[in-house]
Amino acid sequence: MIEEILAYNKEFVENKGYESYITNKYPDKKIAILSCMDTRLTALLPAALGIKNGDVKMIKNAGGVISHPFGSVIRSLLVAIFELGVEEIMVIAHSDCGACHMHSETMLEKMTARGINPDYIDMMRFCGVDFHAWLDGFEDTEKSVRGTVDFIVRHPLIPSDVTVYGFIIDSTTGELTRIV
Ligand SMILES: [Zn+2]
Repeated sequence: MIEEILAYNKEFVENKGYESYITNKYPDKKIAILSCMDTRLTALLPAALGIKNGDVKMIKNAGGVISHPFGSVIRSLLVAIFELGVEEIMVIAHSDCGACHMHSETMLEKMTARGINPDYIDMMRFCGVDFHAWLDGFEDTEKSVRGTVDFIVRHPLIPSDVTVYGFIIDSTTGELTRIV
């Protein structure tokens, strides 16, 4: 698979496939989007929102969630706001999200089945890693979006003039539903 990608890449560059994508690091629409890494959204989300290269800062992870107040998502938002001029943030969850019904205990079982030493897992629990909080799904997508929006709005390092909106995108049709 990787070999295929490398061969395609060589051709892409040789044929100057990049020419229509040239832009700079500043988001033209002054928007940052936090969304899920789901494969159905890779091309659908930008297409359904009319977003082209250079328009927005896109931050993605499993579920489109913030799992730590000083983790990589907030760090990226701070860079987007203070260094790159972002003024609005869209939190976009999606229907049928794989991260919705995740269970940490099931994942831990899969880890041990793949050869991860259960002693390490116990040691991490002992050191205060809360696997439930970290790896469990969010169950209610609307509630999760509201929580994430609220989290950003209330974050002490996010300026109050930055507007934060919540949405759920349909993973098939691309239709956005606003969460208020
Ligand atoms: Zn998802």
